[in-house]
Amino acid sequence: MTCSKEYIERAENAVLHTYNRFPVVFDHGEGVYLYDLEGKKYLDFGAGIAVFSLGYGNQEYNEALKNQIDKLLHTSNLYYNVPMTEAAEKLLKASGLSKVFFTNSGTEAIEGAIKAARKYAWLKDNSTDHEIIAMKHSFHGRSMGALSVTGNSHYQEPFKPLIGGIKFADFNDLDSVKAQITEKTCAIILETVQGEGGIYPAEKTFLEGIRKLCDEKDILLILDEIQCGMGRTGTMFAYEDYGIKPDIMTSAKALGCGVPVGAFVLNEKVANSSLKPGDHGTTYGGNPFACAAVSKVFDLFEEQHILEHVQEITPYFEERLDGLVEKYDFFTQRRGKGLMQGLVVEGRPVGEIVAKALENGLVVISAGSDVLRFVPPLIITKEQIDEMVEKLEKTIDGQ
Ligand SMILES: *Cc1c(COP(=O)(O)O)cnc(C)c1O
Repeated sequence: MTCSKEYIERAENAVLHTYNRFPVVFDHGEGVYLYDLEGKKYLDFGAGIAVFSLGYGNQEYNEALKNQIDKLLHTSNLYYNVPMTEAAEKLLKASGLSKVFFTNSGTEAIEGAIKAARKYAWLKDNSTDHEIIAMKHSFHGRSMGALSVTGNSHYQEPFKPLIGGIKFADFNDLDSVKAQITEKTCAIILETVQGEGGIYPAEKTFLEGIRKLCDEKDILLILDEIQCGMGRTGTMFAYEDYGIKPDIMTSAKALGCGVPVGAFVLNEKVANSSLKPGDHGTTYGGNPFACAAVSKVFDLFEEQHILEHVQEITPYFEERLDGLVEKYDFFTQRRGKGLMQGLVVEGRPVGEIVAKALENGLVVISAGSDVLRFVPPLIITKEQIDEMVEKLEKTIDGQ
């Protein structure tokens, strides 16, 4: 039998080393558990970075994909296909927005959102020096456009010059956003709940203030819901809980629940006056296979009452995490919304906890430099939350 060690060595020889990976080769999954090549079982509170919301091996989901594989995988965007139409309608119904463009990743969704905002502004005044305000500690992706609005100098520095006209403000500080606004500002982009930056939910007054500011000045509000959307915080999109809507929204990660797909979604105002034929495109985006996944994900969310479940189980999850903050001095704070939670770790490297937990059969991930991140499948049960806490305590006490 070929063991993990051999595959790890072969991967390091073949795959460009852009990730310091943990020494595990996952082989298959079942529900909220993953199994490595040697058959060791792991409780998964990472879900492939907030992707596998329905868990592994969901029969209905798998059947829908298998059927679509046998029917048709790809046609290109020169033609129509049924799954794209159905997925688009379901996404619009869920988001309350007006038009969708499917991409293959979150990064591409951000690129499209930036282009739509720039085009909207260009159509208004025919000038090309429009500015976008982004947030410090944000994460929007690694391509040149998405990287340009990612407020992390470590990620940006080696790749400059990036796209021009980007300004950064402090998240949850409305005055700091106001200070960056000029008559050239065309859009403000932010995550409704900052993910990679360390699990920071937007404050209600902040988001309301931004929405108002945008309305007053016809600035477009772009909400990145790639990580916090698709039910993770207890509503289909996190902004619903704030009583506001974005002009442009980006989705990916759990949108396909394991199939690579993203989308940017526009309200009517932007859809009517931005990207036109020839302005934007993709070979694979909106292909029948990925869209069959999206379409089935929306159906299963409804059938399995996923949102209700997240709302119901969140208080228990928070209570157990708060218990950890009380018990251990180095957990100084819990932050988050729904099943997107972080524990702030002080005085010991969070990477060490993540690595040790993995050895103990628990998948958790980090966010920022000092946050232990929990983004489990949304089907998680109380018993599995208990199991997670038990494994984490064992990890910590054994350290
Ligand atoms: C993951 C992520 C992205 C990038 O998505 P990819 O699918 O990795 O390209 C963008 N924004 C946020 C908030 C994310 O969490």
